[in-house]
Amino acid sequence: MDILSIQQQAEKEIKGANDLKELNLVFEKYLGRKGEISKFFRSLKDLPLEQRKIQGKKANQVKEVLEKKIQEKRTILSKKPFQEIKRAELDVTQPGERINLGHLSILTYAKREVIDFFKSIGFEIIESPEVETEYYNFDALNIPDYHPARDSMDTFWLKNKEKSKDKFLLRTHTSPSQIRYMEKHKPPFRVITPGRVFRYEAIDASHEAQFYQVEGLAVSKDIGLANLRYVLENFLKYFFGREVNLRWRPGYFPFVEPGLEVDIECQVCQGKGCPTCKYAGFIELAGAGMVHPNVLKNGGINPYKWQGFAFGLGLDRLVMMRHNINDIRLFHSGDLRFMSQF
Ligand SMILES: [Zn+2]
Repeated sequence: MDILSIQQQAEKEIKGANDLKELNLVFEKYLGRKGEISKFFRSLKDLPLEQRKIQGKKANQVKEVLEKKIQEKRTILSKKPFQEIKRAELDVTQPGERINLGHLSILTYAKREVIDFFKSIGFEIIESPEVETEYYNFDALNIPDYHPARDSMDTFWLKNKEKSKDKFLLRTHTSPSQIRYMEKHKPPFRVITPGRVFRYEAIDASHEAQFYQVEGLAVSKDIGLANLRYVLENFLKYFFGREVNLRWRPGYFPFVEPGLEVDIECQVCQGKGCPTCKYAGFIELAGAGMVHPNVLKNGGINPYKWQGFAFGLGLDRLVMMRHNINDIRLFHSGDLRFMSQF
């Protein structure tokens, strides 16, 4: 067969191929190792040199053309329309593949619940910087640098790049927001500051280097501890959806007087004692009290005219208690088995 007849025949068959399988057969028949083109090349060996050159060149051109045509056809066949898929291969009743959607962290959900509650009873939601100065984090809150209470809040101090009077740190509590707010607002007011705080401390099941607090501050002429108790008890009832056992005891914080510590019955062990509550049956949930007159003064408010309560709630612990989470480290572990439960 001469090379042009081979080309014509091959092109016809490429055109006629109905699927990839048929096309592959055409490929083998003409371009395969034992195909027509190879056969043609082999038949040239008996021709005179000149003839061989001319015929060989032609055959190479045909080979290229056929290769291109087969490639084009292959592209067309592999995009065969959907409706041509045989009925038996398509089961429209089969369930689709489930797509995993991300969601908010349980801590973010909880923070929003807290905000909803306090908004509903007339509190304003405020924010305050995570990087603070020594003044706002300590001095203005009645914790001068000789005060032993500073030791109880192991602090991440920041290196100053430029020479500055202020010493910077990562806030160890949300309380600096009290001073910042009081400096700019006149009482009466009620505010909460939900936010992250940082402590340079040994990490264990109930301690993390960063956690969330909700700071509360209410200042008016006749606010007292009874109001504080009412607000906190109602908040916890809302958050847990039921009554929870609380323990109120005197506590010392330099920025309140008198000061209270609020403990919640450990919900992991129902008060029986477990590693999460360090076998105490109760877990510290909040520090609270009546705002110390020095703090009011530092915020520019006359302590002879105004008084108020303040509290700092541990949000992570609240969530741990509500969901029976026994290890605070899980929140930032990035473990999807944990995160996707909520
Ligand atoms: Zn416990």
